[in-house]
Amino acid sequence: MPDGTNKLDIKSMLPQELEAELKAQGLPSWRAKQIFRWIGRGAVSFEEMTDQPKSLRAELDERYLIPSLTVMQKQVSAQDGTEKLLWRLPDGESVETVFMRYKHGNTVCISSQVGCRMGCAFCASTIGGRIRNLSASEMLDEVLRTDLECGPVSNIVLMGIGEPLDNFDNVIRFLRLVNDPEGANIGMRHISLSTCGLIEGIDKLAALNLQLTLSVSLHGPDDDTRSRLMPVNRQYGVDALLEACQRYFRQTGRRISFEYAMVRDVNDTLYHARLLAKRLRGTGAHVNLIRLNYVSERVLLPSTEETVRIFAKELADSGVTVTVRRRLGRDIDAACGQLRRGQMRHL
Ligand code: SAH
Repeated sequence: MPDGTNKLDIKSMLPQELEAELKAQGLPSWRAKQIFRWIGRGAVSFEEMTDQPKSLRAELDERYLIPSLTVMQKQVSAQDGTEKLLWRLPDGESVETVFMRYKHGNTVCISSQVGCRMGCAFCASTIGGRIRNLSASEMLDEVLRTDLECGPVSNIVLMGIGEPLDNFDNVIRFLRLVNDPEGANIGMRHISLSTCGLIEGIDKLAALNLQLTLSVSLHGPDDDTRSRLMPVNRQYGVDALLEACQRYFRQTGRRISFEYAMVRDVNDTLYHARLLAKRLRGTGAHVNLIRLNYVSERVLLPSTEETVRIFAKELADSGVTVTVRRRLGRDIDAACGQLRRGQMRHL
């Protein structure tokens, strides 16, 4: 259990599981519904559930846990209002969440694991490896607490620390919880999940037919380039990954977004642009280009803005839809895992 006690994590339970659990304690289903709503609104203790009898609140507290995160550090970008939160988890570990303001609504970028074991060469989150998976309730609390700390959340992206498909069951549970109309009620079409390309996970996700957006971190159109940046590519390869993406599209009808971080002299030449266009043309895929965020522990450098412009034009001219992403929160180290790294150095 997250706090070292043997209490059950009630906040990771789906409504029907909570109902069954409380029924076994002799409680009617309407009580379970009330408690689920409290949790979905961000209650951190049974004490707050003022419509429940005091004796019941005490009993629930003896048996169950409502895991919640506490803010360790909060940074606000002076440039664009992006906020970055470093959370302390119940066992003393830490993860981060980023809150971004857009015209079409606020987006929260959440972490799915403490650390990561995928080893991408440009990413700060993977230095030090994976410590553990986040529970569904911890991911849910990233959303609920950010909503309370920063403002109403309308979109969620699973693009923070960790590989969501490496924590498959907890991530799916989280998605069902946050999507529940009696809970945070965030629509699947307002949720994006980003993966480094774990093929079994992509196929499992396709079978669930959720209407979320799948982003695939591609970063290279051929095995040489991609394996240099992403060790996971040595296991699957670009061909197999793109085939899995096609299966996903056929099964769900949802177009895939490909993330492509532009790394100077590694994946940003015209050769790469042409090959990428050739492989993606006609698939309905969308490419998001982003200049690499410089991470001090890493030797890789961002491409120049001019290179990004030329690369984007080459893709567009070849019929591939492409967006160049703005880098929000640059002044607050908003790239993956940088705040957690900074805090680790100070320990
Ligand atoms: N593990 C998942 C989600 C977390 S990373 C994945 O790999 O997709 C979220 C996105 O940020 C990924 O596209 C990742 O490749 C990218 N990323 C990580 N470090 C970066 C950096 N320094 N600059 C630009 N993008 C980065």
